[in-house]
Amino acid sequence: MATNRAGSVYRCTVCGAELSVIRSGEGRLAPVCCNVPMVRIGVLRDIYVCPVCGIEVMVVRKGGGSFEPICCSRPMVLKSGDAERLAG
Ligand SMILES: [Zn+2]
Ligand SMILES: [Zn+2]
Repeated sequence: MATNRAGSVYRCTVCGAELSVIRSGEGRLAPVCCNVPMVRIGVLRDIYVCPVCGIEVMVVRKGGGSFEPICCSRPMVLKSGDAERLAG
């Protein structure tokens, strides 16, 4: 479980398409776009988990404000993102 962890982002160098891993797995992820392999960029999307119901949300685009997702009347917990970004 190295590269295809949840929050990882791959980009097509030809057309700029991006994909994010939402659920990590054991396999070797090798997405292709425009007939070229997509490259993993050094970004981890922030994923928040609800401690009550287990729903997970991924931040696709960050704004300038403070982001505080709430679910089941509880603050959601950051699962991956900023803290792990440097390791990627
Ligand atoms: Zn492409
Ligand atoms: Zn919930």
